Order: sequence, then C-alpha cells, then structure tokens
Amino acid sequence: MPRPSAPLVTLCLSLLAVVAAAAEPSAEAPRTSASGFIRHWSGELPVVLSVPHDGAAKPADIPDRTRGVTVRDSYAAALGHALRDALRERCGAAPQLIVCELSRKKVDCNREIGEGAAGQPRAEQVWREYHAAIDEAEAAVLARSKHGLYLDIHSHGHPKPRIEIGYLVKASKLRLSDERLDSDKSVAARSSIRWLSQRTPAKFSELLRGETSLGGLFAARGVAAVPSPREVVLLDDPYFNGAYDIEAHGSRDKSQLDAAQLEVPGPMRDTPAHRAATAKAIAESLEAYFVRHFGTKLR
Ligand SMILES: [Zn+2]
Repeated sequence: MPRPSAPLVTLCLSLLAVVAAAAEPSAEAPRTSASGFIRHWSGELPVVLSVPHDGAAKPADIPDRTRGVTVRDSYAAALGHALRDALRERCGAAPQLIVCELSRKKVDCNREIGEGAAGQPRAEQVWREYHAAIDEAEAAVLARSKHGLYLDIHSHGHPKPRIEIGYLVKASKLRLSDERLDSDKSVAARSSIRWLSQRTPAKFSELLRGETSLGGLFAARGVAAVPSPREVVLLDDPYFNGAYDIEAHGSRDKSQLDAAQLEVPGPMRDTPAHRAATAKAIAESLEAYFVRHFGTKLR
C-alpha cells in the first residue's frame, strides 16, 4: 500500500482539527476569577450572557445560606453554552458568557449582596467577581458598539412549558392594553429595555409582545414564550419578571445594555438535542431582533 504524501497527511490533520473545533466550540478555556468560581468566556458579539444559578461547587468552608431560594437552575449553563455555540455558528463570532460555578446554596448572584451572600466574606467576593465580570463584558461591548443585549439565563419548573421573558415589567402591567402601555411611558421607563424603547421606532407594546418582540420571534420559530403575540400571563399563572441581574446590568437606570431575563422550561433545556433546538431558535431570533430594533446586523 503506497504511503500517503506529506501534503495529504497535513490536509487530513487540518480537516480533523476543523471538525474537532466544530464539534466542541466551547471547549476553549475561560478566564477564571481569583476565587475560582466565576468563569468568563470571551466573545466579540454585542451580546452578553450570564448564568448565576447553575453552580455545583459546595465548599464546606463557605456556610450555606439560610434565607432565600437555593434551588439550582439545572442545565442553564449548558443552555448558555449551546446558545453561545449557535450564535457563533450563525454570526461568525461568539457572545461573552459568564457562569457562576458556586452553588446557589452558598451565593445567589441574582439578589442584592445582603441576601445573596448572607454576610459571608468569601461568598461576597464571588458575588462581586460575578458582577464585575458582567460590567467588564458590557464595557467591552460598548467600546465597539453603540448598543447590545444582555440575557440572564435561568430555568423554571412552572406548569406551562414556555420561556418566561422578564423585562422588570410585572404581570399586572403586562395585562394592560397596548394603548395604555404605549401612552403611559412610566412602564417603559421602569423596564430593562428602557434605552431601546427610546431609540427604536417600534411602540413599547410591540417590543414587549409584538411579532418582533423576543417572545414573538421565539414563537415564530417554534419556541413558546411569554409575553408574545399569543401567550399571556393569566391571573393565576406563575411568572418571573426579572430580578437583580437585569436591574443592575440592564438599561433601566443607566445607558448600558438592554436586558432580559430568560426563564427556560425543562423540555427546552433537558437534553443536548432540546438545548440545541432552543439555542438555534433564540440565535435566529436575536439576528432578526438586532436588524429590526438596533438597525444592525449581528456580526
Ligand atoms: Zn434562576
């Protein structure tokens, strides 16, 4: 059998490297904070992702929190990676991703520091590192771009299998008419997409639940979401409208990235195939969202 030529061997090795990179695009090393618990994957897209509640580490020398919720958001970090991979595949560049690997039993980065770290110095350090990483990520986006989107990724176990999109708008406000939402500017002004609401020609009701809202774009790609054109929050529906992360890092109080909290149900995150399908739909939606509302291609 003739020996393969050197150029052929080189070509095959190059192809193998390309295939390996495509199969596991998030295998690159993240930066790790001084505590060791905050991981930050780099990226060039004007999109920042964070996952505060999927940490597994429970070091015995950080006491358990005794107040507040301590439930883990299973598969939220894996979904964050799937979304980062899907965006890179579609756009040719990745979003930044920040993940807290310390258990929620020890720290809750999506609460103010008093509740989140319970006065424990090491938990406070992790909490500060997490928020510093998001601040740094947003500053890097704004150094290159006039705008961007920050998505805080969570998981829920509510009965209705739909993504709950939180903009800091309470369910009672979501039940207002379009006319009221568009005429009473106070709702938009207290939302995590305040800055965008002042720059897009779209009405605020459209941004919240129209065909070109995040929920509308997700639903058009087979991923049920609320608020959206055909999904509402009924009086007895549990619904997460967003918390500390999008208050601190969204545009409600500062001219920084616009933000949403995504609470994803089990059937959209529980297997690699389900995560890939959800991530693909969200990535496609973000491309359309940036063109429609930010007037720019997500590249
Ligand atoms: Zn959560």
